[in-house]
Amino acid sequence: MAIDDPTAPAQALASVKTTIARAAALADRKPDAVTLIAISKTKSAAEIAPLLAAGQRVFGENRVQEAQDKWPALRAAFPDIALHLVGQLQSNKAEDAVALFDAIHSVDRPSLITALARAVERQGRRPTCFLQVNIGDEAQKGGCAIDQLPALLEAARAADLPIGGLMAVPPADTEAAPYFGLLAKLARDHGLDGLSMGMSGDYETAVMLGATHVRIGSALFGARA
Ligand SMILES: *Cc1c(COP(=O)(O)O)cnc(C)c1O
Repeated sequence: MAIDDPTAPAQALASVKTTIARAAALADRKPDAVTLIAISKTKSAAEIAPLLAAGQRVFGENRVQEAQDKWPALRAAFPDIALHLVGQLQSNKAEDAVALFDAIHSVDRPSLITALARAVERQGRRPTCFLQVNIGDEAQKGGCAIDQLPALLEAARAADLPIGGLMAVPPADTEAAPYFGLLAKLARDHGLDGLSMGMSGDYETAVMLGATHVRIGSALFGARA
């Protein structure tokens, strides 16, 4: 993708949407059953603008501070923007996250559920919460261990958080499909509908395996520095 071509992001958006629609059709799913979250971390407002102009309204960031710096001004211009947090969240940032985001994809421990529930009660804002699962059992990754999921789900339900479903980031450099299949099975077993899975390199597979939310950065914006 030519970085200086202002039409490139809109073309990339159209192409990603076409790929999602094709993958959905192959799995006998409707394309509008999949929400495309444009992951705009490290990208400036100027870089985001072409996607807004092309009609994209759902965006994701991985850091609370960066999102606070960037999105209030953009939201003033486009009030129908939906903002998703996809990065790890410290409990002391829960208050800020609830104030800013419409969905939080990284709910992975009881202490965070407690902090989020307190912020939700105080603010009266109810962002959709995805429970993140450490699907490949990797030490460096966020997410709860698979065997902790039932307890985490019970805690989230007891705290009355709006639960959107499950989220995972499979191990890098390996076939993602088995991990997507496992996350989908966990969601089914627990009666959850939402599946936040699939990034630039693997979203087509994720959609075929049931993703309801794909998180796509570099395929839309080009590689990050
Ligand atoms: C950065 C990020 C993405 C997007 O990654 P790309 O490979 O650029 O599409 C998706 N999910 C999470 C959690 C991320 O941090």
